[in-house]
Amino acid sequence: MGQRNAAACFLVVGLLSGCASNFTNTVKSRAPEQGLTEISASYRWGFTTISTQAFIPGKDTHRGTLLKRSCRRSGITVELEISAPVAASTQSQLCEMTLSAAEFTRQRMPAVRLDYKIVAVPAGTRLDKRWSSLSPPEKKVLTLAIPMFQDQAKTFSVLVDTVAHETFHVAGFLNRIPDAADETKAYYFGICANFDINKSLTVWDLPGAPLGNREAGEVAGKSSRAGYAVRLQVAKFMLDGRIDLGAPGAQMLNEKCRSALTRR
Ligand SMILES: [Zn+2]
Repeated sequence: MGQRNAAACFLVVGLLSGCASNFTNTVKSRAPEQGLTEISASYRWGFTTISTQAFIPGKDTHRGTLLKRSCRRSGITVELEISAPVAASTQSQLCEMTLSAAEFTRQRMPAVRLDYKIVAVPAGTRLDKRWSSLSPPEKKVLTLAIPMFQDQAKTFSVLVDTVAHETFHVAGFLNRIPDAADETKAYYFGICANFDINKSLTVWDLPGAPLGNREAGEVAGKSSRAGYAVRLQVAKFMLDGRIDLGAPGAQMLNEKCRSALTRR
């Protein structure tokens, strides 16, 4: 990684993806309902490019933005683009939760100014899209896409997990932190932020099954195996498939989070 020019690409939520240009058809066909995200980042001549490839499986096609909302806290701005009718209170919760997930990660990382654009589509709506933003040093925007479920707790879980996981990668890259591509740590950022903000965790919230290199590519395969190892570790703290605040597993998870998120 050079001083002036560098590039990196990372995986995301759920299981898979690859740092190739697009998700393969095999990866798409096995995409979890939470969707897939792949981020790549580079800097050149003082400008940063952050690119996002998002895939959410579904039958209906994404038709565009219906609602926009923005919020701001601690110098972080979130722009929400929602493609379905959603109550004003839910819009507000989505926006505030994005800020909380961003703050959770930023508190544990050196300060990097990142703003967010969150594209939210109804679960079951197919989204296959790429965004790329060229930003000056003072304003870097990370775009992420999430599905919105009937069960709002699932939506909030995916949102917080995705924002924390990807913020770790991007902020790490922008700070030139050597472990920015560490998938185990990124998965723990997602899970620990989720429990900290949403106060409970179920097996549904954990990364899924591992993929082989042959079907997913080397990068995606490696990430999915890291995610699966994290799943097995956290599942041990669960009782009947969940951890709630105050349960014995909560203390074990919090201890695990403290050690996993500490900079080495
Ligand atoms: Zn990742």
